[in-house]
Amino acid sequence: MNFDAYQSDLFDREHLWHPYTSATHPLPAYKVERAEGCTLTLDNGARLVDGMSSWWCAVHGYNHPVLNRAVAEQLGRMSHVMFGGLTHEPAIALGKLLLDIVPPSMQKIFYADSGSVAVEVALKMAVQYQFAKGCPRRNNFVTIRSGYHGDTWNAMSVCDPVTGMHNLFGPALPVRHFVPSPQSRFGGEWDEDDIRPLREVVEAHHDELAGLILEPVVQGAGGMRFYHPQYLREAAALCRRHGLLLIFDEIATGFGRTGKLFACEHAGVEPDIMCIGKALTGGYMTFSAVLTTDEVAATISDRYPHAFMHGPTFMGNPLACAVARASVELLLASDWQQKVKAIERQLCEELAPARSLPQVADVRVLGAIGVVEMREPVDMAWIQCRFVEEGVWVRPFGRLVYIMPPFIIRPDELRKLTSALVKIVSETEAHGQ
Ligand code: PMP
Repeated sequence: MNFDAYQSDLFDREHLWHPYTSATHPLPAYKVERAEGCTLTLDNGARLVDGMSSWWCAVHGYNHPVLNRAVAEQLGRMSHVMFGGLTHEPAIALGKLLLDIVPPSMQKIFYADSGSVAVEVALKMAVQYQFAKGCPRRNNFVTIRSGYHGDTWNAMSVCDPVTGMHNLFGPALPVRHFVPSPQSRFGGEWDEDDIRPLREVVEAHHDELAGLILEPVVQGAGGMRFYHPQYLREAAALCRRHGLLLIFDEIATGFGRTGKLFACEHAGVEPDIMCIGKALTGGYMTFSAVLTTDEVAATISDRYPHAFMHGPTFMGNPLACAVARASVELLLASDWQQKVKAIERQLCEELAPARSLPQVADVRVLGAIGVVEMREPVDMAWIQCRFVEEGVWVRPFGRLVYIMPPFIIRPDELRKLTSALVKIVSETEAHGQ
């Protein structure tokens, strides 16, 4: 295998640290010259069908004229002004649009810079709420195993301690309560025992718990698991009964990816706090928002110190707000439900052959997400290179080879992705894994 054919930038290799890899012996990084629709074009001319939506973001594909125009028009007015003491139309218009589509109890919006920061903000909000309620001891959190919530300190602390990428930091992190993740699968039978561990922890420790945080229905980077929506209904009832705030991390699942606009709609459950990000800007810029109820906002605001104590420099960035508004409007004006359904059908059909491979533990599909779970971790450098050779962009991690393509993908492009995936996964045996 000739990795060097794609090692196009020596400076990059020697000086730029890429995510989740070594600085001295990095995994190969392929140099992208441009991206359009569902195609990434490398500097050597290779054209790759994108299976990742740049980690759940680029739902409309790349270089979209409508989104380009939104950024350019806003750029002509102002790229940024501080949000402390100032406001602007892009933030207001986006806020109005978001309130139309999120669960109705979400009434207050706090803009933040990234998914991880949104999670930090949500956790701080919950703690400040409990403080304002006169319960300062309620400052810890419970969550479910196999979760992933980001890379910052408190976000790391609620990621799965083993599969959530941050086990290295374990001893340095605040200690949270973890319960086993639900075993009842999405679309399968609900097993009442699934909720028992959460019930036991909440009943035993509610006086120290500010809230429960989880990814509704789809757990992303911590395991790519799809679980039964009944879990959310039961969890919500427990939270209400014991005064915990229910925090939904919809950063990966939001904006249609699971077949609903937000994954919590599968359960008909509304959270107290909700984080959105990633596809919010159609993948154009880093941006996120934390939404909450009037009750949470009023409780925090009616007690000293009256303010919610957070205020990032780039809060409510006008460029990000403008492109987010354009992206959400584009999504709502499209037939995204049909597109996601069609992607789901095609993924089910075309990934099914992988199920019979001995090296494959499971194949699962929900909405525009297709997962092939291997029995053993894949060799990343080898498998990435093989995908590139086959003209597709797929970036597995651990035992998970998965795709979540842009919603605009054509059936022939998706077929290219799925057939490369099944082919390469079947080669892993021969490759000696
Ligand atoms: N929550 C979830 C569910 C995510 O998938 C991610 C990103 N993978 C994050 C939080 C963190 O978002 P960001 O990378 O934008 O900080």
